[in-house]
Amino acid sequence: MLGGMQDFELRVPRLLDHAAREHAKREIITRWADGRETRSDWAGIAHDSRRLAQALERLGLKPGDRVATLAMNHGSHLVAWYGTIGMGGVVHTINPRLFDEQLVYIANHAEDRVLIYDKLFQPIVDRLKPLWTSIEHYICFDRDGADGFDALLDAEDGQYAWFEGGEREPCMLCYTSGTTGNPKGVLYTHRSTLLHAMHAGSPSVMTLSSRTAILPIVPLFHAAAWGLCFAAPLAGSKMVFSQVNNADALCGLMNREKVTLASGVPTVWLALFQHIDATGELPETVEQITVGGSAAPRAMIARFLDMGIQVIHLWGMTETSPVATAASPPPGWEDMSRDEQLDMLQKQGSIPFGIELRVLDDDNAEQPRDGVSSGRLQVRGPWVVKRYFGAPEDAVDAEDWFDTGDVAVLHPDGTMQITDRAKDVIKSGGEWISSVDLENAAVGCAGVAEAAAIGIYHPKWDERPILLVVKKPGSEVTPAEINAHLENHVAKWWLPDEILFVDDLPHTATGKLLKTELRARFKDYRLAA
Ligand code: AMP
Repeated sequence: MLGGMQDFELRVPRLLDHAAREHAKREIITRWADGRETRSDWAGIAHDSRRLAQALERLGLKPGDRVATLAMNHGSHLVAWYGTIGMGGVVHTINPRLFDEQLVYIANHAEDRVLIYDKLFQPIVDRLKPLWTSIEHYICFDRDGADGFDALLDAEDGQYAWFEGGEREPCMLCYTSGTTGNPKGVLYTHRSTLLHAMHAGSPSVMTLSSRTAILPIVPLFHAAAWGLCFAAPLAGSKMVFSQVNNADALCGLMNREKVTLASGVPTVWLALFQHIDATGELPETVEQITVGGSAAPRAMIARFLDMGIQVIHLWGMTETSPVATAASPPPGWEDMSRDEQLDMLQKQGSIPFGIELRVLDDDNAEQPRDGVSSGRLQVRGPWVVKRYFGAPEDAVDAEDWFDTGDVAVLHPDGTMQITDRAKDVIKSGGEWISSVDLENAAVGCAGVAEAAAIGIYHPKWDERPILLVVKKPGSEVTPAEINAHLENHVAKWWLPDEILFVDDLPHTATGKLLKTELRARFKDYRLAA
């Protein structure tokens, strides 16, 4: 028997239609690299997206075809997403910070037919054009002239009805920036994207509304910009984009455009703090910061709370669309001590509807939610990957559980805490030391800018941690001072055997510490003791 309600395929263009109808004048602002600022609104973005859909059809694109972008954040990039998706295509965001080899691999693997790119990345295009086997059309976002994005749109009138199909058809492709092996593509569906947008904007996650003015500092090429470009039109939020990511430009933009919510990985907030310390300029209107991609350090959360800014700590991965869990103020928040509040926000948060989590030990036994038993974290739900693009097999087990590669603990209050990446935990005497906890404790020490903990071979304990530290400019901090600080935050047997100062640390294309490279670099390192 069928129910009596309307079929309403959950397709992404409906988000844009809603915003254009109900929040037509809510603005979309872009600050370009040359300092220019351009203004549009949801009605303008919808009109331009229809024009792009027409243009792509004119170029011969068919539903299901992939259109790649190699670009920073701006309103035209947003149009590229909706125009491509609106004609039934699949938008493939490419991370320009990947190595050439990976850039070649993923565009060829995705069989991209069109590449729309920022002028800034012209050298990449010139270098790799001979190696990209499927790209037929190259369009530049920010160049005047016949091969420019605006010229393409100007040839169309916008009289276009979105391609209509099923909600399980694909709309977007993102490759994971894995640190080993070839990148793997996650092919989101209209349905998964729309459900994720409803979840990401909800009060238990980012609390988006038409009042919200969002600055996604997270790049549009990093895990679908955490769903913000889909959740914003749903809520009717204003969006503010910047093609450049320096704290100076961002802070001014936040104040001019009265940004209320900004999203980014921990490193962008460290840069913002340095800007505040150097200039005294504060982001005056920001009410909420969302942090994700790596664990939010306690000292960072504390500083934002002291500034009167609420921190939402997100955990997820490209494979989970990406937002899965969110740490936000629980009941009784106002009555908690500052330390209890920090304990709460430092965890990766509570489990929202749509996401199921479990933790397994090495024998695949499910662990209790007791706040101590740690193990491999698995996830399932309607916006979690089932099979990577083009893969011969599913990435999940028979019950749809996906192994995240993270190590976690579930707490009795329903919250989840990531303790490490499975590959990064330091195994000392059969027990696990969390490299993430050590690093977070270390960056809370005055004078420490960044820290990485890795395991070094030890004849008795298998592995012992060493800590690699980048000092803040002008800091004279010593290993003894760092150790004294760490003693207040981690178990004694976790303390690193050695603390070494380095000029910088290697990062992945999405700003995470590149532990594989550090381990390779210190492969033959022997502890002095
Ligand atoms: P990506 O697919 O590049 O977004 O990477 C996903 C991975 O980033 C996760 O599996 C985690 O290891 C890590 N990650 C993301 N958010 C957090 C967080 N809030 N705390 C700790 N690790 C995180």
